[in-house]
Amino acid sequence: MTPDFENLERELLDIRQDIHRHPEIAFDEHRTSDIVAGKLTSWGIEVHRGLARTGVVGTLRAGSSNRAIALRADMDALPIQEANQFDHRSQNHGLMHACGHDGHTTMLLGAAKVLAQSLNFDGVVHFIFQPAEENEGGGRVMVEDGLFDLFPAEQVYGMHNMPGIPAGSFAMRTGPIMAAFDSFDITIRGKGTHAAMPHLGIDPVAIAAEVIAALQTIASRVINPLDNVVLSVTQFHAGNAYNVIPEEVKLAGCTRSFLSHVQDQIEQTMGRIISGVTAAHGATFDFDYRRGYPPTINTEAGVAAAAAAAVDVVGPDKVNTETPPLMGSEDFAFMLQERPGSYIFIGNGDGEGSCMVHNPSYDFNDQIALTGVQYWTRLVERELPA
Ligand SMILES: [Zn+2]
Ligand SMILES: [Zn+2]
Repeated sequence: MTPDFENLERELLDIRQDIHRHPEIAFDEHRTSDIVAGKLTSWGIEVHRGLARTGVVGTLRAGSSNRAIALRADMDALPIQEANQFDHRSQNHGLMHACGHDGHTTMLLGAAKVLAQSLNFDGVVHFIFQPAEENEGGGRVMVEDGLFDLFPAEQVYGMHNMPGIPAGSFAMRTGPIMAAFDSFDITIRGKGTHAAMPHLGIDPVAIAAEVIAALQTIASRVINPLDNVVLSVTQFHAGNAYNVIPEEVKLAGCTRSFLSHVQDQIEQTMGRIISGVTAAHGATFDFDYRRGYPPTINTEAGVAAAAAAAVDVVGPDKVNTETPPLMGSEDFAFMLQERPGSYIFIGNGDGEGSCMVHNPSYDFNDQIALTGVQYWTRLVERELPA
């Protein structure tokens, strides 16, 4: 059966704007996952719920092959107060779909519907709808909960919208496409004293300033300059009076990188610098470095498959297979650690007014939803040929 794309486009618009009106954040995507499960069931797709609490997996079979592919969308919103005034703006105070996961969920639902109608493939498709992509690693939790044991796909694919890329164009690359994300907390303990008598104390503010300056040498002097690294100290908490040198300073921040040995090098060097600088001044410290998301690494075959499907939909001129990696991070990385595949970008538009994800004025571009659906559909038809 040939899908009725005009009706589908209207249906997708309704789904997307409804989800946009009702954003839910990490592991709280109850309404959204009810919608996803309800739609999948209504199209005759087998539904499994409960991985990572609110996760939903739909399974669709056609033909006789046991070969299986997994396609993934994320469902969560962000703790941002929406600035948009259009009708479908967020109804949940302080929460907003500012990363377009409403659009991702909608596009994967659209693909599920088209494939359930056409059954134009031979094998098994698992549609993964994951919670908590932002900060909380819902993708990791789904993997830990047995995602690929329950749904043994041979390959896994993800797609994210990207403002700044022309609407409906695709961008991807082999190898790392998104960075690893680690976070850290540092406490520097000195000895509080009167600010007019600094010689009677140990000033943790001055020491923390030296630590921050010294940490900048990790990216500039320690790591191979051909390996991309960002180290940002984003928090500095100390003191509450004009005339008191405080007892301690708390620093926090994050790092981005693409290689696990570079992550090791950053962590070790940070420890050495903090230890050395504080010791030089007679202060003490605590240092907690936590691995967050690994780098998102596409396989060559995964990118070739994605590129071929994208070219089928929009033509070769709108498919860039050598887009530079981004220093942002993505918890789809945990799925790509388990299975080969790729994570690609679909352009959300580059015109005036297009603003970056995580901005309070952002909105997913409904004009690209059908292109996204066709990409997913083509990818399945190519990888599981009937
Ligand atoms: Zn985001
Ligand atoms: Zn996102």
